[in-house]
Amino acid sequence: MKFVRTIMRNAAMLNAPKHIDYYAKFSPSPLSMKQFLDFGSTNACEKTSFAFLRQELPVRLSNSLKEINLLPDKLIMTQSVQLVHSWFIQSLMDILEFQDKSPNDPKVLAEFVDTLVTISIRHNDVVPTMAEGVIEYRDAFGADPVTCQNIQYFLDRFYMSRISIRMLINQHTLIFDGSTNPGHPSSIGCIDSCCDVTNVIRDAYESAKMLCEQYYLGSPELELREINAKNKSRPIEISYVPSHLFHMVFELFKNAMRATIENHETSSTLPSIKVMVALGGEDLSIKISDRGSGVPFRKIDTLFSYMYSTAPKPTIGDYRRTPMAGFGYGLPISRLYARYFQGDLQLYPMEGYGTAAAIQLKALSTDSVEKLPVFNQTALRHYKFNQEADDWCVPSKEPLNLAAYKAAK
Ligand code: ADP
Ligand code: MG
Repeated sequence: MKFVRTIMRNAAMLNAPKHIDYYAKFSPSPLSMKQFLDFGSTNACEKTSFAFLRQELPVRLSNSLKEINLLPDKLIMTQSVQLVHSWFIQSLMDILEFQDKSPNDPKVLAEFVDTLVTISIRHNDVVPTMAEGVIEYRDAFGADPVTCQNIQYFLDRFYMSRISIRMLINQHTLIFDGSTNPGHPSSIGCIDSCCDVTNVIRDAYESAKMLCEQYYLGSPELELREINAKNKSRPIEISYVPSHLFHMVFELFKNAMRATIENHETSSTLPSIKVMVALGGEDLSIKISDRGSGVPFRKIDTLFSYMYSTAPKPTIGDYRRTPMAGFGYGLPISRLYARYFQGDLQLYPMEGYGTAAAIQLKALSTDSVEKLPVFNQTALRHYKFNQEADDWCVPSKEPLNLAAYKAAK
C-alpha cells in the first residue's frame, strides 16, 4: 500500500511544473487586517477560509517557485536551495490534493488543518537553509555587485512571501483547530485587535536586556515616552500581530544595546536607549535612539543587506538560541515585517553620536493591507536588465585634468 502511494505521489510530482505554471499566472490577493479579523470574528466561516486558502496558497507558493528559477544556476544547484525548492513543491502538491474535495465534509476540513500544520513545520528552517545556500555560493564563486543586488531583491521578495504564507496558515490553524484563547479575548489567531504597543516594546526590551547582560555583563536603561494624540488618557493600541512587532523592536534593541556598550567600554556610565511612541490618526510611529556612535550614512544600504554583519558569525546551530548579533538578518527581516502591513523601518545614523531607528506602522486596520510580491514581467526585467549603465554620473576617482580645457593663449 505504501509502495502504491509512493508511486502515485511521484507521478503527481511530475506534474508539478504544469501546476506551478498555472498558479503563477494568478497574482496573489492581498488581505487587509480587517479581512483577517473578519475571518476570525463570530461569524467565522471555516469553509470560506478553506476555499480561499486552497486557491491562494498555491498562488503564493507558485509565484515564489517561479522566482527561485531566476537565481544564478550555481546558486539554484546548491544543496540548500534544492532542499528549500523541494519543500515548496511538496507543500504545493499537498494543498492541491484538496482541490476537488468538498468544503462541506468536516473530515476534509480537519485534514486540511493537519496538512497546513505539516507544511508550517516543514518550512520552519527555510530562512537559515536559504542563507546557507547563499553563503555557500558566495564562498565558492564570489559575488559581483549585480548578483548581490539580484540576490537581495530575490530574498526580500521571497521572505516577504514566506511571512505572508505563514500568516495565512497560522490564522487558519489557530482559528479553526477547535481551541479558543480565553486568556486573550481580543486575539484573533495571531492578531491582537487591541495590541498594546508599549507593553510589547517593554517585553522586547526586557528580552534584549537579558541577552545583553549575558554577553556584556551590563545593559543600557530604557527611557520610554508615549503620546496618544487620538486619546491622551488611553494606552496606545492598534490591530496588529504582536509577534511581528516584538520581532522588530527586539532586533532594534539588540543592535542599539550592542552599539552603546561597544562604544562606551571605557566610560563608567552607559547612555540609556530612548524610545518615543506616537499614535496619530493615520500612523503609529516608534523611534528608538541610541548613543552608540552611529555608522556612516553611506553604509545604510549595506546594513540592510542579507550578506552583511559586523558581528562574529555564530555557528549555524545557534539559530534557535537567538544570538545577540551575527547573522546580519536582524535589520532586513525586521524591515520586511514592518512593510508587510504597509509600514516601514528606517535607520537615521549620526556618525560619531548615535543612531535613531524608526518604525512606521498603519494605525488603522483598513490601511494595513498585505504587501505582496508578484511574479510578472516587471520582476523578470529586474533580474534581466539591472546590468544596464547607471543614469547618474559616477564621479571619477582621479580629479579631472582641467589643463586640457585651458583656452589656447
Ligand atoms: P547583526 O546584528 O546580526 O549584525 P543586523 O541586520 O541587525 O545584523 O545589523 C547589521 C549591522 O548593522 C550590525 O552588524 C551593525 O554593524 C550595524 N548596526 C545596526 N544597528 C546599529 C546601531 N544602532 N548602531 C550602530 N550600528 C548598527
Ligand atoms: Mg542585529
